[in-house]
Amino acid sequence: MLTKWILSPRNYSTAANRFRVVEVGARDGLQAEKKFVPTKIKVELIDRLSACGFSTVETTSFVSPKWIPQLADHNDVVAQHQRFPGVAYPVLVPNSAGLKNAMATGVVDEIAVFAAASDGFSKKNVNATVEESLKKLIEVTKTALDANIRVRGYVSVVVGCPYDGAVNPEVVARVTETLLAAGCYEVSLGDTIGVGTVNTVSKMLDTVLKHVPAEKLAVHFHDTYGQALSNVLVSIEKGIRAADSSVAGLGGCPYAKGATGNLATEDLLYFLRGNGFETGVDLEKVVETAKWFNLAAGYDKWSRVGAAISAKMEKKI
Ligand SMILES: [Zn+2]
Repeated sequence: MLTKWILSPRNYSTAANRFRVVEVGARDGLQAEKKFVPTKIKVELIDRLSACGFSTVETTSFVSPKWIPQLADHNDVVAQHQRFPGVAYPVLVPNSAGLKNAMATGVVDEIAVFAAASDGFSKKNVNATVEESLKKLIEVTKTALDANIRVRGYVSVVVGCPYDGAVNPEVVARVTETLLAAGCYEVSLGDTIGVGTVNTVSKMLDTVLKHVPAEKLAVHFHDTYGQALSNVLVSIEKGIRAADSSVAGLGGCPYAKGATGNLATEDLLYFLRGNGFETGVDLEKVVETAKWFNLAAGYDKWSRVGAAISAKMEKKI
């Protein structure tokens, strides 16, 4: 059966056509890439992304270097990158020790915390059940808010878990509600292993939206099976106007085997522009940034849209 959204018109009203793209390449992207990227290049990547027009650029993670050596230079990164007016620069914080280290830098004014929607993933990732990890996150969030630090929430494995299989949408809803009640200004729902389809994402969102308003949600899709943009469209149809993506499709998730990549920012921007959404982000500039990064870091990572636009640009020269 075709779901109703497929037939609905695409003329979004002007009030509803703003869309926020949260750039996560420097953190979510680089943490999953095997090669260590020198600090100088990370800093320039963040600065170049800031110049593209994003309102949120996630920069690094204050997780122990033992777990994620790729981001061991978090102190230097946050101290060295520029801070464009109107741009938020969240850093990922796994626990109270991470928050303490982030606060010690004196420059972090936004953090992101994460909880999983399955016990299997939560235990593998933070060595605690979902309930146990939520208790700790409530404390971390409270400490951050008391220090005037804004908090964004992430929920991992909202559709499927590599250890537990299909995830119950009611659990996703409860974790999301808990994070919002703790004081997160927004919760990003992550399909960490990219298994979601229109059908499963739709059901998950319907359940979550019974408990929390669409304005408080963002979505975070991985393109493992090529379903990310379809899933963004479903989210849009349900009223969500924010999504995470990664320049050049950098990264996946180091704890999720086979999570081969974040939705690429270039692909998301092309899709949004073509469907009448305003993001404030310059797509061509993002493509140039991806091209620069590949050269500077010795990578060869391209999104489909990035490759197409880059080829077009080269022909003009
Ligand atoms: Zn991701």
